[in-house]
Amino acid sequence: MSIQVLLDEFKAVASSPKQQLDNFKAQGKKVIGVLPYYAPEELVYAAGLVPMGMWGSNTKNISRAKEYCATFYCTIAQLALEMLLDGTMDQLDGIITPTICDTLRPMSQNYRVSMGDKMPVIFLAHPQNRFAPWGLQFTIDQYTSVKTELEKIAGKEITNDDINNAIKVYNKSRAVRREFVKLANDHCDIIKPTIRSAVLKAAWFMLKDEYTEKLEALNAELKALPVCDWQGTKVVTSGIICDNPALLAAFEENNVAIAADDVAHESRAFLWDAAEDEADAMMALAKQFAAIDYEVLLYDPKSAENRRGEFVANMVKESGAQGLVLFMQQFCDPEEMEYPYLKKALDDAGIPHIKLGIDQQMRDFGQARTAIQAFADVLELNK
Ligand code: SF4
Repeated sequence: MSIQVLLDEFKAVASSPKQQLDNFKAQGKKVIGVLPYYAPEELVYAAGLVPMGMWGSNTKNISRAKEYCATFYCTIAQLALEMLLDGTMDQLDGIITPTICDTLRPMSQNYRVSMGDKMPVIFLAHPQNRFAPWGLQFTIDQYTSVKTELEKIAGKEITNDDINNAIKVYNKSRAVRREFVKLANDHCDIIKPTIRSAVLKAAWFMLKDEYTEKLEALNAELKALPVCDWQGTKVVTSGIICDNPALLAAFEENNVAIAADDVAHESRAFLWDAAEDEADAMMALAKQFAAIDYEVLLYDPKSAENRRGEFVANMVKESGAQGLVLFMQQFCDPEEMEYPYLKKALDDAGIPHIKLGIDQQMRDFGQARTAIQAFADVLELNK
């Protein structure tokens, strides 16, 4: 299949999750909405259900969700609820609500109250102290509770073999996305920022084995091409989510390619694999969660060493980028609190960066465009 056909398919999926949901339902499948962050999607897949990511929306405005949410909740959380209230996601058979940040914790109860009997709302509390045996056990207990609720929806038991099979499917999907990110850097003349975003975003709305097969085909096509001689500049993107095509178009207008990302919705979601064929597959998933590192949203016992800041600074250098663009979600406490440390690491490494305040109700990107254009000029001078 040609590269263009594959890219068009990814773009179509990324831009129409509602259509994907309708398609799954037409096939008689049950679908579970999965909110950020780090829900064990493998359990959903193991149950024979379809996991569908819910990271808000770039095309909706907060209206009905206002009844349930404090105004200072980020738009990602509020617009996910909006989609549950305005009929967009009515066909879901349940949702999983992780509670990693101070918005998602109370929001999990807003989802529960607002959904009432409409659909099951599965609560998930990850531990921050996740490394010690009792932390692992806490994760297993939480995942077991999620598994029990999923079994009720699926009408079947999820066996250890089911989970091990799902882990293999997900590890493969993560590996092929990591490979794609590298190939996107080598072929940034073809994989422009809007396209890169669409390919990675589509993963949230497809069954992972089907997604992997399609992405393997795209990777094979890209590998067959010579590495591009990029004359523009390159950046690393950082933040929670940056999937608005109108905003990403500003990169393309200024010949700025994305060399790598430190984005929760993109690479941060597929850096860490689970062990395959563990005797206890739930323990494999708990250990996978414990292994997540360099993450704004999770406890780092060595945070005073600013390991995360240095990790991101190294990513900029190793990917060949000249700078970093940070997309700061409005009202996102974890990202705002971490910013001074990231800034220090970037400044210490001599890496220029800009911080763009965004939210999902933004429709006018004039200011961001100007900032990206000015930043591109600075990076061009530093090349
Ligand atoms: S954007 Fe920030 S505040 Fe909102 S859900 Fe994510 S981590 Fe929490």
